[in-house]
Amino acid sequence: MLRIGVVGCGAIGREHIDRITNKLSGGKVVAVSDVFVEGAHKVGDPIGATVYNNSADLVNDPDVDAIICTTPGFAHKETVMQAIEIGKPVFCEKPLTTTAEDSMDIVEAEIAGGKHLIQVGFMRRYDKGYRQVKEMLESGEFGAPLYLKCTHWNPEVGTNYDTPMAVYDTAIHEIDVLHWLVGDEYESAQIMMPRQTKHTHPDLKDPQLMFLKCRSGLIAMVEVFVNCRFGYDINCQIVCEEGVIDLPSPAVPTYRKSGGLTTPIGHDWKKRFIEAYDTEIQEWINSTRKGEMNGPSAWDGFVANLTADALVASQQTGEVVPIDIGVVPEFYKK
Ligand code: NAP
Repeated sequence: MLRIGVVGCGAIGREHIDRITNKLSGGKVVAVSDVFVEGAHKVGDPIGATVYNNSADLVNDPDVDAIICTTPGFAHKETVMQAIEIGKPVFCEKPLTTTAEDSMDIVEAEIAGGKHLIQVGFMRRYDKGYRQVKEMLESGEFGAPLYLKCTHWNPEVGTNYDTPMAVYDTAIHEIDVLHWLVGDEYESAQIMMPRQTKHTHPDLKDPQLMFLKCRSGLIAMVEVFVNCRFGYDINCQIVCEEGVIDLPSPAVPTYRKSGGLTTPIGHDWKKRFIEAYDTEIQEWINSTRKGEMNGPSAWDGFVANLTADALVASQQTGEVVPIDIGVVPEFYKK
């Protein structure tokens, strides 16, 4: 049994605690922490977990074998560095940190420790649909992928969500999964701002059109519209030399009523990728118990941050910003 400590008992922290406790196998949440300690007690007490008000005490608890970090992005580095220091595996929700510089500090610390300890929560790589698309592309039957068209539509966000968050909190999923799908690396990024919705606020540009160019010349276009009102709707279409692949959304019943044929669209991100989260955490538990780390790495987290930084820079100017990921360290070569 893997004894897990969860740092951050907010929305996704509670989701992961619930799936480990009630759905998955091989793991048990034995400790939780949150700066809002009442919140930690609310989730920790019913499952008999030790409750802490800070991350360091949880990480150093000898009863904790591995850590799940589900605090907001700006707080991830602290917990991840503490875990590396003591040599404990850590599953860190995306983004690894909020800047490439901070993520590089983590990469360097992990390499210096000489042991793979970090997995980043890029759960799209565990989604059945994305995995099928990757298999189809790798089969070669579709020829080379030429360009991708993706949408990340979200019904609404709060006033604490600002323009850069559209990149490092939202598009970070597409940033990671798209180059993983096509087996390529980004070389430049650009953002264009179309007409803005009346539903946004002064600190948020919404929608945003993002363009990522890969070394092969492939271009990914990602529309991020986080106040779209109608639902949480993630789409991806890959145009290839020999055909076009559309990412299948999970099947839902359609219905005919009042003179119309309707396909419902959900509002809740937790439900859209629920199976992917289950698979992701189950595979992390399984590999961690075997002393392995097979999922998205700290290097993947760094590459996503570097790409995000280029997009955020383009938010200011609209210009094309180059991306140079350098050479993949031997430590991360698969
Ligand atoms: P959330 O609801 O705000 O929860 C974060 C929790 O961490 C809150 O209880 C917060 O307390 C607490 N916290 C803040 N600073 C802390 C610190 N230094 N130490 C310990 N606890 C701290 O956020 P969330 O939606 O769960 O998101 C958490 C992370 O998961 C983010 O990185 C987010 O991007 C990621 N996420 C990933 C996905 C995915 O699809 N993979 C989906 C959702 C979220 P206060 O409220 O008192 O500040």
